[in-house]
Amino acid sequence: MLSFTRPFFSTAILRKAAWNVLFFLTTFSVYAQENSANKRLPIIDVHVHAMKVNPAFAGDMCPWFLKNMPGGDPTQAPPSFLNIDCADPLKAAKTDQEMQDAVLATMKRLNMTIVAYGDPTIIRKWMKAAPGRVIPGIGVSSPKDMTVKAFQDSLSSGFYKVMGEVAPQYQGLSPSDPSLDEYFAVAEKLNIPVGIHMGTGGNGMANITQPKYRASMGNPFLLEDVLAKHPKLKIWVMHAGYPMIDEIIALMGANAYVYVDLAGFIWSYPLEEIHAYIQRLVQAGFGKRILYGTDLLVWPKLIETSVGVIENANYLSFEQKRDILFNNAVRFFRLDESKYK
Ligand SMILES: [Zn+2]
Repeated sequence: MLSFTRPFFSTAILRKAAWNVLFFLTTFSVYAQENSANKRLPIIDVHVHAMKVNPAFAGDMCPWFLKNMPGGDPTQAPPSFLNIDCADPLKAAKTDQEMQDAVLATMKRLNMTIVAYGDPTIIRKWMKAAPGRVIPGIGVSSPKDMTVKAFQDSLSSGFYKVMGEVAPQYQGLSPSDPSLDEYFAVAEKLNIPVGIHMGTGGNGMANITQPKYRASMGNPFLLEDVLAKHPKLKIWVMHAGYPMIDEIIALMGANAYVYVDLAGFIWSYPLEEIHAYIQRLVQAGFGKRILYGTDLLVWPKLIETSVGVIENANYLSFEQKRDILFNNAVRFFRLDESKYK
């Protein structure tokens, strides 16, 4: 018969049991973390802006903020570009270190590799903190940015692996403008893939900060002359030429080496519109030529927001999602797949 006058378990036994449970929980949670990190399938983000955070301009932001573009009147203040009127705006990083810590933690957790362009000091810091996970790029959007010689020297050093982001549209220039030709010739000669901004400009880009911006200079057909002149050049059309779906489909049909990325428009334009655009690209037969990109700026959580758009796309099969998030980038950038598993 059990006596209830003294504890059934002695305190020593209880303490030992507690330690065992604690040990098991700690071991299990460490194992679970490592295990899930190991098992997380790799992602390559081909469109990251590694730049200095300017706290004066780094405000919070609601994704898909372009779902309402009511316009305005030229006699009044221009429409605001972003908005913060949603339940859970994404927080902007306030310092370079905060941005770096948050982005690198996400990259580790999601088993991500990024193609990053922007400030060379920031790129080098990120590369040091995440060896093997940052592929550096250098962009030229007009001859004012740097001389052809300086560009060639930068690429020849072997540090930069990608030419991007090239964005002549913001200067009102076509990508086939003769002033850019020698730069593309260098990239072609050195076998460097090129990412060119085509399309997206938000609501009132020409009224707000970029008066030279021209929607017409985002027409994917403007790439035809560059491609004809440089048959060995590997181009990916950033932002998938949004919203010119018919033109991008025609361009990719005529040019078998052209890929697109989904950066930027997947977190800014209306969600239904984005899904219709991606679905149309896949339906047209280009599921193997779509690259995942975030267009990361100053909001670290933008990565999860944008990856989530692909993860939650019900019209895509598991294989199609893996192609977009990883396989297509391995093929396009001629990477060694085994290094990213
Ligand atoms: Zn862009």
